[in-house]
Amino acid sequence: MPSTAFDHVTLGQRVLFGSGAAAANVRTAVEELGGARVLLVAGASARATADELAAAVPVVHRITDVVRHVPAARAARAVEDARSTGADLVLTVGGGSATGLGKAVALATGLPIVAVPTTFAGSEATDVWGSTSDGVKTTGSDSRVLPKAVVYDATLTLGLPVQLAVASGLNAVAHAVDGFWAPRADPINRALGTEGLRALVPGLRALAADPGGIEGRERTLYGAYLAAVAFASAGSGLHHKICHVLGGAFDLPHAELHAVVLPYVAAFNAPAAPAAVARITDVLGGGPAGAALLGLKAELGGPPSLAAIGLREQDLSRAVALILPAVPPTNPRPVDAASLGSILRSAWAGDDLDEE
Ligand code: NAD
Repeated sequence: MPSTAFDHVTLGQRVLFGSGAAAANVRTAVEELGGARVLLVAGASARATADELAAAVPVVHRITDVVRHVPAARAARAVEDARSTGADLVLTVGGGSATGLGKAVALATGLPIVAVPTTFAGSEATDVWGSTSDGVKTTGSDSRVLPKAVVYDATLTLGLPVQLAVASGLNAVAHAVDGFWAPRADPINRALGTEGLRALVPGLRALAADPGGIEGRERTLYGAYLAAVAFASAGSGLHHKICHVLGGAFDLPHAELHAVVLPYVAAFNAPAAPAAVARITDVLGGGPAGAALLGLKAELGGPPSLAAIGLREQDLSRAVALILPAVPPTNPRPVDAASLGSILRSAWAGDDLDEE
């Protein structure tokens, strides 16, 4: 007899979305949270926006040296800054690295976060924190790091070079797709991921065709949020486990790494995940799933291979050994060293996909 049963958690946060409205919306969010001493975290690429926002809310300290993958020592200094300045709220402006540094502060201090993303990484919609020490990335979930409010303004992504914007958007596509077979996948997060793809794919096509236009960026940003909510709920599937280990161990650029690996994981899982394949190919206008995702990446001008973004061939066997223990037991297809090695080698070389 057909039946539906699931155990789903929806994380609560306020989302304010509006192009050109960042300063007004940040003021609204900070006031609602009672922020009177704001710690502003914004790297160099967000300097102009940070200046504008600093005029709208009471900032007591500003952190400008944001480093990717949240090195533990950098995080410890930020926590000390928050404590020594008596900050009562953290305002992050930037990509996942800035959000991640703010999360490290929230984890240690319990301060609320208002996040203003300038990429499509989606960290702002999750309760996942990450930190890197000696080449090993540690992550965890904690309700304290989920931003209380997110302020989306597509004009803030205009400074992203188009190649980085595309890679970041494909990172969001990976949140949606990997969520279809992740450990806590359920009908609600699959619906969010599917709707995320429906916004991301046309949004990214419009962004690549007209990088100065706002409409494509708005659709991409909206889709990135939905996909990140889906990911936050569904958890990390095989794709995220692979990228998590590779990013930490070999210091590879996050968005580009996700953009390259996804089609090969999708091609591998496809024979055992027909419902997920249908969701992917429906949006992409045809299959097979891995080849369609590879085609989307090529059409958008995404990065061609792991080799091109800095992984050395001699590191492939160590990568397999590091990733294998992290493979989710719930993956729709069993993964062993040989199959993982073949996924990685194909992604490293940027092979074409020849699926059934
Ligand atoms: P990033 O924040 O490192 O940004 C990439 C580069 O783009 C940086 O040099 C940055 O300065 C620049 N940049 C950002 N916004 C810009 C803009 N609007 N204009 C010009 N330049 C801009 O990278 P990312 O891909 O946004 O985030 C990656 C990080 O986020 C990783 O550490 C990853 O682990 C983390 N992340 C975490 C989660 C989570 O749920 N915790 C989810 C996704 C990503």
